[in-house]
Amino acid sequence: MTDFQPDPAIAPAVQVIPREAHALSRKQMSQNALRVLYRLREGGFAAYLVGGAVRDLLVGGAPKDFDVATDATPEQVKALFRNCRLIGRRFRLAHVVYGREIIEVATFRANGGDDDGDRQTDDGGRLLRDNIYGSIEDDAVRRDFTANALYYTIEDFSVRDYVGGYADVQARVLRLIGDPETRYREDPVRMLRAARLAAKLGFTIEAGTAAPVPALAHLLAEASPARLFEETLKLFLSGHAAASFEWLEQLGLLPALLPETAQALASNKSGALRRMLLQGLRNTDARVANDEPVSPAFLYAVLLWPAYCRTLALLQAQGVHPVEAQRRAADRVSLHQVGRTALPRRFSLPMQEIWLLQPRFTQRQRKRVYRLLAHPRFRAAFDFLALRLTASDAHAEDVAFWREVQLDPAATVAASELRTAESAEGDDAEGEANDGDAPASRKRRRRRRPPAGAPA
Ligand code: ATP
Ligand code: MG
Repeated sequence: MTDFQPDPAIAPAVQVIPREAHALSRKQMSQNALRVLYRLREGGFAAYLVGGAVRDLLVGGAPKDFDVATDATPEQVKALFRNCRLIGRRFRLAHVVYGREIIEVATFRANGGDDDGDRQTDDGGRLLRDNIYGSIEDDAVRRDFTANALYYTIEDFSVRDYVGGYADVQARVLRLIGDPETRYREDPVRMLRAARLAAKLGFTIEAGTAAPVPALAHLLAEASPARLFEETLKLFLSGHAAASFEWLEQLGLLPALLPETAQALASNKSGALRRMLLQGLRNTDARVANDEPVSPAFLYAVLLWPAYCRTLALLQAQGVHPVEAQRRAADRVSLHQVGRTALPRRFSLPMQEIWLLQPRFTQRQRKRVYRLLAHPRFRAAFDFLALRLTASDAHAEDVAFWREVQLDPAATVAASELRTAESAEGDDAEGEANDGDAPASRKRRRRRRPPAGAPA
C-alpha cells in the first residue's frame, strides 16, 4: 500500500517459514477466519492470520480468537462482506460476524495508530491521527512481542516473520520488538502483557525485555483504570492466575497493580497471606480448567484480602470497634483500589460481603445459622472461609461445622424457606438478613443484587 523503504535496523528482511517446516494446519483454524482470508484474496487483497492465534497454534494451544491483517482498507473490507461492521473511531477495524464468532480484520497499521498515544506527521507536517495505515513490515514492528508478529498466509501456507518471532517461539522466549524501554514508555500495559503471556505460554522473558520493568512499573499509574481492570481479569481469570501472580512479583509489578496488597504481603513475615492468595489463584485456575464459572468478585476478594486484613488491623489498633472497623476497612480498601484498577460496584459490593460475612461463621445459634445459610452470598463466603485454612487452621472447626450444616436436610429446608419468605417480603427483608451486623447504609446498598447467574 505504502512505499516501503526497508530499514534493516527496524524491519529485517522477511524470513519465510514454508508450509512443511511449521506446525500450522488449516484444520486447526477457524473455518470463518479462513473464509475471510480467501474472500479477501479473491478481492485482490493481501490477507494474513496474525497475532495470538498464530502464536498459540505454534505452541499447540487453542486460540481464543482469530485476527486477520490485510492491506484492504476497512471500507474495502466492508464492501466484500455483507456480515461486516466497522468499529473504532481513531483506528477503524472491520468485524466480520459469523453468529457468535467475530473475525477481527485490521488494515496494516504503522506505529502510532493504536493505544500508545504516539503522534506522527506526514511529509507536509499534517497530524496523522485517525487512520495510520502502513505496510506489513510497519504492521509487524508496531506489535509488542516478536511471538505476536507472525503472519500466516493462504497464498502458500507459509509463515512470514519480520522480527525473528519464529525462532523465539521455538525457544519459548518472549521478546519485545525494538527498544524495550521505549516500547514500555509508549504503552506501560505491555509490562502486564509480558507477565500474562509468559504465564499463559510458559515462556521465559528475554533478559533485555525483563530488565527495565521494575524501574518502569510506576508508569502503570498513567494507564486508565478501566484498561487495567480488563487486564487484571485477563491476568487472573484465564486459567494461569498463579503463574501470572508469580511473574508480577518477579517483575516488580505487584506494587503498581495492587499497591496495598503488595504492602501487606511485604509486612506479613509468616507468609501466610501470600500462601492463601496463591492457593486462591490455584483454585481459580482449577475452576477454569474444569470449565466452572469464576467471578471477578471472588477473585478480588482473594487479591485484596491481604490489604483488607492489614487495614482492619490498623483500624482496630486505633481503637475502632471491630464491626465498624470491618466496614471501614472494606470501604477503604475498595476505594483505594478503584483508583488503580477500576472495580465496578457490581463486583466490589459482593467482594465486601464475602469479607464481612466471615465473622458470622463463628455463630452457632440456630436462627443465625439458618439466616447465614440463606444468604445469597453464603456459598462464596464459605468457599472463602475454607480458603483461609491455607493461612491458618484457626478456622478448621468453623469449616467443619458449616460443611455439616450444608449436608443437614433440616437446615437446608429452613434456609430455603427463609429465602422464599424474604424474597416474598421484598428487598427490606433482604437487608434484615444482616442480623444487625452492619449499619443501615450497607443494608440499603445490599439491595443491588448481582446479575442473575453470577457465579459464587
Ligand atoms: P490473547 O488473545 O491470548 O490474550 P493476544 O496476543 O492475541 O493474546 P490481543 O490483545 O488479542 O492479545 O492482541 C492481538 C495482537 O495485537 C497481539 O498479538 C499483538 O500483536 C497486538 N497487540 C496487542 N496489544 C498490543 C500492545 N499493547 N502493543 C502492541 N501490540 C499489541
Ligand atoms: Mg487475541
